[in-house]
Amino acid sequence: MQEKLSDLGEFGLIGRIRERFRAPEGVTGIGDDCAVIPQRSGRDTLVSTDMLIEGTHFLRADIPPYALGWKSAAVNISDIAAMGGSPTATFLSVALPAGLEAGWMEAFLRGYADISGRFGAALLGGDTTASPDRICINVAVLGECPSGTARLRSTARPGDLICVTDCLGDSAGGLKAILEGLERDADVQALIDRHYLPLPRVEEGRRLAATPGVHAMMDISDGIGSDLQHILEASGVGAEIDLPSLPLSPVLQRVCARLGWDAAALAAGGGEDYELLFTCTPEAEQALDVPHFVIGEMTAQGGLRGLEGLSGFDHFRKS
Ligand code: ADP
Ligand code: MG
Repeated sequence: MQEKLSDLGEFGLIGRIRERFRAPEGVTGIGDDCAVIPQRSGRDTLVSTDMLIEGTHFLRADIPPYALGWKSAAVNISDIAAMGGSPTATFLSVALPAGLEAGWMEAFLRGYADISGRFGAALLGGDTTASPDRICINVAVLGECPSGTARLRSTARPGDLICVTDCLGDSAGGLKAILEGLERDADVQALIDRHYLPLPRVEEGRRLAATPGVHAMMDISDGIGSDLQHILEASGVGAEIDLPSLPLSPVLQRVCARLGWDAAALAAGGGEDYELLFTCTPEAEQALDVPHFVIGEMTAQGGLRGLEGLSGFDHFRKS
């Protein structure tokens, strides 16, 4: 039987692309939150791009267009934050069905402008085309950081503490509420807002990247079970997560207690929190001026322990 993409998985496919296209010397290419391209000016340019497809990443009938505009820019800006950089510019490409109301796009652009303006990222171009039925959005983001300061996924060391910048699982709880069609009381709406209006941790990322002893960093888009695996593979180390240490918001705890949901499973397996996941020495952790929670430790022994039975989200894979 012919090999299908579902056999390969999202990351298997990216691995194949990566084998074929090697990055030039001194450039960080495929495999991190952003590409890092050194410039002559003493700054490095950061570049990333992300796509959102109707039906896969959002439900048009549910997400307000303002929130979709916000989220499209926010998830890209978050990849700049993940390197410890400052966003500078975005490019927006849209494929839209001809029957879409013009007011929908107006609201989309308001959301997009509000979040990108907040972080100083100017919209400098893009592409517009018709789509037969589904909305497809692609954003590319540019950012910068002082030379050699970008925090990669490949620099975690055994003995590092594993930290996150804030509570996990709210976004996954919000998504679950949307998919299950729950009644939206204040708590449920708060989780849905976290899912629809993520706030990239740009300032936190910059401060972490300026702190000696902060080693590897990424943003949490797929869930720590899946995202941490990337740090493990890139750094050639293992990790032990302490499940009870995962920070859970009071709102998520209340909703989970009421509905019988497993808060830890949402926190570890669910994605789209867009908090930063980073590793640092215990000494650096003691002195950090960025709010954070310690959730585990990097180990010399390979493999990810402490999250057995939980999994993240992999496009293409069936299970
Ligand atoms: P993130 O969740 O941070 O956006 P992804 O998991 O989407 O990152 O992607 C992982 C890495 O693979 C990134 O470095 C990204 O640029 C790269 N990548 C993903 N898809 C492609 C592709 N089609 N061609 C080249 N690189 C890709
Ligand atoms: Mg990322």
